[in-house]
Amino acid sequence: MSDTIERVKCLIIGSGPAGYTAAIYAARANMKPVLYQGSQPGGQLTTTNEVENFPGYPDGVTGPEMMMQLQKQAERFETDVRNGWITKVDFSGDIHKVWVNDEKEIHCDTVIISTGASAKYLGLDSEQKYLKLGGGVSACAVCDGFFYRNQEVVIVGAGDSACEEAHYLSKLCKKVTMLVRRDEFRASKIMAERVKNTENIEILYNTETDEVLGDGQVVTGVRVFNNQTNEKHEIPATGFFVAIGHKPNTDIFKDYLDLDETGYIINAKPGTSKTNVEGVFVSGDAADHVYRQAITAAGTGCMAALDAERYLAAKDANFEVSTSTYN
Ligand SMILES: Cc1cc2nc3c(=O)[nH]c(=O)nc-3n(C[C@H](O)[C@H](O)[C@H](O)COP(=O)(O)OP(=O)(O)OC[C@H]3O[C@@H](n4cnc5c(N)ncnc54)[C@H](O)[C@@H]3O)c2cc1C
Repeated sequence: MSDTIERVKCLIIGSGPAGYTAAIYAARANMKPVLYQGSQPGGQLTTTNEVENFPGYPDGVTGPEMMMQLQKQAERFETDVRNGWITKVDFSGDIHKVWVNDEKEIHCDTVIISTGASAKYLGLDSEQKYLKLGGGVSACAVCDGFFYRNQEVVIVGAGDSACEEAHYLSKLCKKVTMLVRRDEFRASKIMAERVKNTENIEILYNTETDEVLGDGQVVTGVRVFNNQTNEKHEIPATGFFVAIGHKPNTDIFKDYLDLDETGYIINAKPGTSKTNVEGVFVSGDAADHVYRQAITAAGTGCMAALDAERYLAAKDANFEVSTSTYN
């Protein structure tokens, strides 16, 4: 083995709620975890101002603040938190090989994947502007719908998730306008019917977003166009929700791990964090197309660390399972 190759017991890829929670548990179980943060230290929550649904914060907390605290907690137990992007893996052998920034090679007894998923956006300048300002653009109705109670919102999308989110918003908001690009839904019939039968949801077919309108700080409306007639009109709205899908950050694993058609990692054994490769575990949004919440990501991060610990203990009788995990 060359000098440049490092050997670690537990490598965690990703620094969202899943990665840091896995790190807290792995570090307290004596696994000396090394965690690579990737290009978004703190993960998706660093892009949101207010988190009001994570237990333990009765007054809410900003996403960046919460993630700083999670990092601090992981470091308190001596997680080795590093900057770096995992560019390549080789899970074909007993020892799992991982490359950082195409340079550094690490050999790992266990790997916990917590690389998350990225919400897809339309890519309009005005959408990105108000997204960055935290001024009314969101890709998560469950996370942000509450801030738009009794207000009028627009949602873009036509699949099952979009219908689910539109329905969720309809319970909170005065009116939901749903923009569907084609002349029909992509969603299952039952989901589409539910939306069609909801009184305060108006569906505009063959309709796309021209521009998200605002006052420079917050969203005030959406200009839309009919893609058959090119006619434009404006819809007053304080929230603009984008529900056109997510892309799991799992491309580098596709040669080794079982992924579904969208790219989510498939749990080899439901109810665990195990993948189809022994010693490789997954947590958070990288394997979750259903819940996609910080608390569920944290929960599965815990599961992954416990599964990794048990795997190591079963493999190596000398590996001491720390009782501190359960304190
Ligand atoms: C705008 C917004 C608001 C939200 N608000 C809420 C909310 O209020 N409440 C709530 O519960 N949920 C909310 N969510 C959802 C929540 O953020 C996610 O469910 C959660 O962050 C998923 O955690 P994760 O750890 O799986 O992944 P992420 O948070 O996505 O983190 C993934 C991490 O992996 C790293 N990474 C990816 N690829 C690599 C690689 N190749 N090498 C190294 N590192 C890599 C990234 O840098 C990142 O650190 C919100 C999401 C968004 C986008």
